Parts: sequence; structure tokens; C-alpha cells
Amino acid sequence: MEISSQLGTGTHVVCHIFPGPQETSALPYFHSVKLETDRCQGCTNCIKSCPTEAIRVRDGKAFILEDRCIDCGECIRRCPNNAKVAVADGWDILDTFDYKIALVAPSFYGQFSDVPPAIAKAALCVDGGFDEVFDVAIAADLVTAAMREYVKARKSVRPLISTSCPAVLRFIQVEYPSLLKHLIPCEAPMEIAAWLAKDKAKVEHPERSPAAVFISPCPAKITAARQPVGRGRSNVDAAISMDQAYAWVKRHVSQVTAGAEFPESSGYGLGWGRSGGELMAIDLKGLAVDGIMHVASVFEEIEKGALSDVDFVEAQACSGGCVGGCLAVANPFVAKARLTDLAQANLEAPPNPVIRDISPDDPALWMSVEILPRPTFRLDEDAQEARSKLAELERVLKELPGLDCGSCGAPTCRAFAEDVVLGRGTLSDCIFKLRQRLETLAQEVKDLAGIRPPAMGGPTSKP
Ligand code: SF4
Ligand code: SF4
Repeated sequence: MEISSQLGTGTHVVCHIFPGPQETSALPYFHSVKLETDRCQGCTNCIKSCPTEAIRVRDGKAFILEDRCIDCGECIRRCPNNAKVAVADGWDILDTFDYKIALVAPSFYGQFSDVPPAIAKAALCVDGGFDEVFDVAIAADLVTAAMREYVKARKSVRPLISTSCPAVLRFIQVEYPSLLKHLIPCEAPMEIAAWLAKDKAKVEHPERSPAAVFISPCPAKITAARQPVGRGRSNVDAAISMDQAYAWVKRHVSQVTAGAEFPESSGYGLGWGRSGGELMAIDLKGLAVDGIMHVASVFEEIEKGALSDVDFVEAQACSGGCVGGCLAVANPFVAKARLTDLAQANLEAPPNPVIRDISPDDPALWMSVEILPRPTFRLDEDAQEARSKLAELERVLKELPGLDCGSCGAPTCRAFAEDVVLGRGTLSDCIFKLRQRLETLAQEVKDLAGIRPPAMGGPTSKP
């Protein structure tokens, strides 16, 4: 609660209510990935790219099964009609805050061929932009140390999986709940950066109200800022897309008179923005996997127990890591190469003094709410009913050709059989079943055409 009193204006009482830690797995998903139905041509291009089989096309339009979507953004990349979009806050949200801090992810610095990081940071702060920039790489240095200690101390589960990519975290909740015990429950650098940045601003500018605005390379992090997993409420106040921030820098770079401080973290922290960076920083026996379908294949290996000799797994939904996020601008391979050079050049830069006195077991670094599964394959709440629907599903599946062609608007024959059982589709949506039916009908018509009425005394085709 804030109370201020001024002669002539009276007393103002401002009360902020923040929900505390709570179980959020039962809440409906918030999604930053949306469908612009008007633009959808029903081409079915997107349905095969979705790692959780969350997309269906019916009556010429796609729709997303909300409980399955993990906001990975694969469908945004795949849609040729730009019908899938990521909804971020607009730049004008800055007008609603008093002291605006840009949380800049390392991947941002890989976007520019001609703007050095120190100048890009300064450009974000000219002409009514941000008041300050805080590098998320500073927090990445802290998360690296915390995760390393956790992995070393907890030897009973192998491998342990990083939770820094929110799309991967949700992927595990939805598709691989058996791997929840493998997760390292450390907050992501974005969350910790927001906490550090706002605390620092409160000390340096006690008269101002700081707000942390994340510049996001991907829809998953926008979703994480709105509806985080593992905590009740995010420290991040808004999330704008990286392409908006990129455009701002390009428009305002000519107004920059002096560069900002850079780097403010070690090169290891900066390296987090591309695949392999986390693993390199944590320096444990591990593997790094990027691209959501590759992540799925590694998770299957873990489920089989095939990676129990590995300590740590870095898993990132986007190819190339965060530089490959669908809200980034530069070619991900080019951005990755730039970021690798930048990280390498600053490898031995010291971690920022702001994290010097924070111990790896500080509760602020750790998730406060248990991560629970988000089961999606629910045929029925009632167990007996679910069993009979499963039997029906298997029966329908046997009738289907097993080609997984997608022309029914579902990604696989099995997904389509599930749709039929749950009333989301009918058997005649399958082009093969439709053809079979037409052939039967055609035969019946032919047979009927050959029948002569008994009054005409002629032969009939059906005696
Ligand atoms: S964002 Fe990812 S999970 Fe969601 S519908 Fe698109 S491809 Fe599927
Ligand atoms: S890899 Fe990075 S950019 Fe891609 S979804 Fe995960 S956090 Fe977002």
C-alpha cells in the first residue's frame, strides 16, 4: 500500500493486490499464439508442424485446442497465410509506466549487422523510449551458478533438465509428465532479471515506480510473463516483441550520442541466447538439443532411461536457441554466429556486481509452486466411460487407412479417431471413408437402376 499526502491535493491511498503463489495448472491456458480466422485458408499446412497435435481444420478453418497448445510458435513459422500470430504488448504500453526498464535478452544483440550492442542499448532509451536497459544475461550468470549447484547436489535423478525455455517446460507438462521430476525448478533468467532490475531501480530511484518490460524473441516467453509456471505472478510487467524493439533501434540509432555500458555480464551469460550456450556456461556432462521435434526425440530417450549417464540437458524449442525465436528478425544462423563471436570475445568479463552477494540457494531464484502435469488426453472424466470411449477409438482407428494424410483436418489417423469419438469430427471427414461410402452408394444406385417394376414384367437385377 502506498499513502501520499500533499497540501492542497489531499491524501492518496494506492493499494496493489498481488496474488500469492497458487496452483495454476487447473487454470485455463493464456495463449500468446492466436489464430486470425479471417486469414486462414484451411490449407492444413500447420497441423503437421504442431508438436502437441493441437491444431485441427474443420469447415475450411483451423482452430487450436487450447489445452494442448504450448505457444512454441511452430505454426506461426509454417502458416503461408500469416493466420497464426503472436500477440505481444504494443510499444505504447510504455506510456502506462513511470520508470520503464527494458529487459534485453542476449539474442537481441545477434539481430544487428551494423549496430553494436552498446549503441542498440542506448537507442532503446532515446526519444521517449525506455529509462534504462537491464541485460538478462546478468541473471543468466546467476541461474548458471544456481543450476550447477542443484545438479551437483541432486544425484538421484539423471539427467536433470533446464527450465529456461518456457515452451519446453509446457511441453513436458502436456506431453511428458513422467519427466517432471527431471526438471530443475530454477526460475528463468527473464524472471530473475525483472526482480533484480526493479530492486536496483527502487534503490537508485526511490521516487519512481519501476516496471520491467521484456523484449521477447518468442510467444512462449510472452505467455510465461502473463501466466508463469512455477510461481503465482510474474515479476515482468509487460512483454513486447523483439521485432518491435528492433524496428525502434533502427529508427532511432541516429539520435544516439554515446553508447551504453556493454557487456554487463560474462560472455557465458551472453551465450545463453543461442543453443549450446547454457551447457557451455554450466560446464557439466550434458547435452544441448534445439528444435521442438528434436527435443521430443531426446525426451523419448530419457523416458526409456537411455540418458541416465548424462547430468544436464539444455533443451530449447527453437532451432538455434532463442536467436531462432519466431519474433526475432535476423536469420537464426547468422544471429547465432554473431552471438557466438560476442560471447567468445567477452568470455572472461566478470559477472555483474548486482549478483555478487546473492547465494545460489536464495529462495528468490527458485520456483515456489510445484510444476504439475497438464494432461490432455482425457476421453471422459468417468473411468468406465473413458474405457468404453477408448475401445470405440480403437475400433474407429481400425477402419481408417493409417496414412496420416491430414486431409481430414487432423494431424494423424489416431488424432482423427479421437476427434470422432469426442464429437469433434465425423467419419465422412476422412476422404477415404467418404470415397468408400460413395462407392457403396454408386453401387446401390447402379443396382437400383437395373430393377424393373414387376408390373412391367421385366427381369430385375436383384431377384
Ligand atoms: S503454438 Fe505450437 S503448440 Fe500451439 S498450436 Fe502452434 S504449433 Fe501447436
Ligand atoms: S528457445 Fe528461446 S526463443 Fe525459443 S521458445 Fe524457447 S525461450 Fe522462446
